[in-house]
Amino acid sequence: MEQVLTLVCKLNPSQKQAEEIELVLKAWSNACNYANEKVKPQITSKMTIQNLVYNEIRALFGLSANLAVRACARVGANRKTAKQKDKQVLTFKPTSADYDARIFSFREKDWTVSLTLMNGREHIKIDTGNYQRGKLKGRKPTSAQLCKHRDGNYYIHIQIKDKTPEPIKSSNVIGVDFGSRDIAVTSNSAQWDGKQINDVRDKFSRVRASLQKKATKGTRSTRRRARQILKRLSGKERRYQQWLNHNISKSIIQDALKNNAAVAIEDLTGIRERTNQKPTSKTERRRSNSWSFYQLRSFLEYKGIQFGVEIIAVPPAWTSQTCHQCLHIGLRSHKLFKCTNEACSWSGDADLNAAKNIAAIGANLVSHSVAGVPPVEGSGEPARVNSPRGSNCLCCELSVNSSGLLKAHTVPEAGTVWVVYKE
Ligand SMILES: [Zn+2]
Repeated sequence: MEQVLTLVCKLNPSQKQAEEIELVLKAWSNACNYANEKVKPQITSKMTIQNLVYNEIRALFGLSANLAVRACARVGANRKTAKQKDKQVLTFKPTSADYDARIFSFREKDWTVSLTLMNGREHIKIDTGNYQRGKLKGRKPTSAQLCKHRDGNYYIHIQIKDKTPEPIKSSNVIGVDFGSRDIAVTSNSAQWDGKQINDVRDKFSRVRASLQKKATKGTRSTRRRARQILKRLSGKERRYQQWLNHNISKSIIQDALKNNAAVAIEDLTGIRERTNQKPTSKTERRRSNSWSFYQLRSFLEYKGIQFGVEIIAVPPAWTSQTCHQCLHIGLRSHKLFKCTNEACSWSGDADLNAAKNIAAIGANLVSHSVAGVPPVEGSGEPARVNSPRGSNCLCCELSVNSSGLLKAHTVPEAGTVWVVYKE
């Protein structure tokens, strides 16, 4: 498998180079917009788009051959993404342009990139920190994006491709619940409480509130100063969150490697796109909207690929309401889960219970695929991240609703036993 890492480096162009960059970005976005208008919207193949408008683009916008090819490819790619979301590509802004190996290269000896602009190649210095230098050392990246960020500066986003190990197939699965109180809880009882991050957040929000008052009331210079501090604070809070998410995801992956296990997480991908399936619970809504949960998930997915740990996405329905011991529906109040089945009456940490359910569903999906038996619904492969699919692992009887769709009983009857399917 291949993993692509994108390194963002600030460019240090001369005045003249900056002007040329600006021209390239304008010409490139104009070319994209032109292709987007001229080629019928249902066409998404970059080759077809290229065959139709390449010559006109070259003649009209003065782009080099490969920049013109990349513009056609970008229109195709954006259309494909938009199509998946049932949308249409509207317009391209002059904020980025794609580069391939023929028009972009990186030179380590003086930390420059060479880019084809409007009038041939230019060597432009890049700002690199230790992290970027470490990643770029000895590499020959073959694609990049030239970008203008909101801060008005120019950046180069360099793609670095790495071969990654084949993920280990294992029926040992660690479930991870992104908790309501805690940030994350695993079925192995590892736990990252939200206290620290909440404390930091509270502190920031107190400072923010007082600064906001100053930013609206004080003298002109106090107002400006307050706005500057506010901006810096939001960066600090974001970096702290990022650091924490890196740590959590790293230790979950290390735990999986040590135990030769796969990792199962709730599948919340595309919740916002799915039109007929709005997030049902408040928790689900918050999780799907919160960038920090999204970030933690994506770090986990990224590190999973990097270290050969399989990440399995399981359907999130009922994972927090079901008792992991007996599969009855239980009661949940805040951090506590209580099983209502008298014969079981397990009680304990609600997020741990959910994590164990997630692990069980994950293990079920894996064992079906290992044994070559397809999951109850599906085509033989377990649901990987980005390919949501029902598991039917925690299940009750289904009924057909008026629109012909299968639907679970909304209120489970008392005493209903939920069954995990096993071979
Ligand atoms: Zn129970």
